[in-house]
Amino acid sequence: MENFYRQTWAEIDLGAIKYNIEQVKAKLPQQSDIIAVVKADGYGHGSVQVANKALEAGAKALAVALLEEAFVLREAGFKVPILVLGWVSPEYAAIAAENNITLTFFQKEWMDEVALLPMKKKVKLHMKWDTGMGRIGIRTETELKNILQGLKNNKNIELTGVYTHFATADDQDLTFYHQQNKRFQELLKVFQEIWSEPVVIHTGNSAASIRFPKEMHNYIRLGISMYGLYPSKPVKLERSLQLKAAFSLHSRLVHVKRVPAGQSISYGRTYITKESEWIGTIPIGYGDGWSRRLQGKEVLVNGKRMPIVGRVCMDQVMIRLDQEYKLGTKVTLIGEQKNNSIEMDEIADYLDTINYEIPCMINERVPRRYKE
Ligand SMILES: *Cc1c(COP(=O)(O)O)cnc(C)c1O
Repeated sequence: MENFYRQTWAEIDLGAIKYNIEQVKAKLPQQSDIIAVVKADGYGHGSVQVANKALEAGAKALAVALLEEAFVLREAGFKVPILVLGWVSPEYAAIAAENNITLTFFQKEWMDEVALLPMKKKVKLHMKWDTGMGRIGIRTETELKNILQGLKNNKNIELTGVYTHFATADDQDLTFYHQQNKRFQELLKVFQEIWSEPVVIHTGNSAASIRFPKEMHNYIRLGISMYGLYPSKPVKLERSLQLKAAFSLHSRLVHVKRVPAGQSISYGRTYITKESEWIGTIPIGYGDGWSRRLQGKEVLVNGKRMPIVGRVCMDQVMIRLDQEYKLGTKVTLIGEQKNNSIEMDEIADYLDTINYEIPCMINERVPRRYKE
């Protein structure tokens, strides 16, 4: 294991990644494979390490948001298909082709620009259909027909897939999900009437593939649930699947002191001790992505909940302890300690956001330690 000087780290349980993939896979029909989504450095878990484990667990391809992220994976030696989900400038089609990276496209002008490039190798593309997400993708049958027409004369492009993305697959109300699915089927029908060469088809994110495994096509694009988190409260409550969170966050007490009543703690004196109190200091702060808005949130020491008191500083926070603890005592900010736990969802609720944002928020200043 690498050596870290600081006393704060995120622990990534790669065994949990494998376990989660197996749970999802067990529900999928035989013909649906898994694309492991490792954008944003594997949702803050480490894209290379997660990709490695995901492929070992049976995923067949990888997806990222940026071309940069795809290069990180190619440089790490992965040979499997890699799909870039976001828009990439057409001028980079050649370098994507040379590295066998599949790009997403949906614009006629984009395609026409690629046709003019001097390219040694065709670039593989998946066409994105906007069936209701309103983000990227073609929306009409006319657009679809125009693009397919243009593709026939484009010697720099190989169309290898078509896909869409759901906006509400994680909602309680699934009306719009079903509408999007229906729209996808309509576009697919038009597509198949015109295009006879084989392509792969994929629609589902974590929520859709957990809830409607039988509706999935050649692939699912598995993100959040591979990391052991539920895409939303409704999906969590359905309990159709048991997942294990892979990410936990820890630190250690670097200072412990007894403070008399009436003393202030941290910037701005927002906390004043009510009685004689044990105050601990831990080396994590908003400079690590541990938001200032987490003042008042609890952390675990010796399996018990202790509140963060006073302002969160850039590199340190103070917590109120129930007794004296030895320097070096482990503090868990996210995860389990003894019989207690603080879930990612609890932090997300406190910050009025979704669990996806939390591991992305804990930045690269916090080293990731991997365990099997
Ligand atoms: C991020 C992303 C996914 C993964 O979604 P999860 O909800 O994390 O499973 C799938 N498809 C696209 C297009 C995405 O951008």
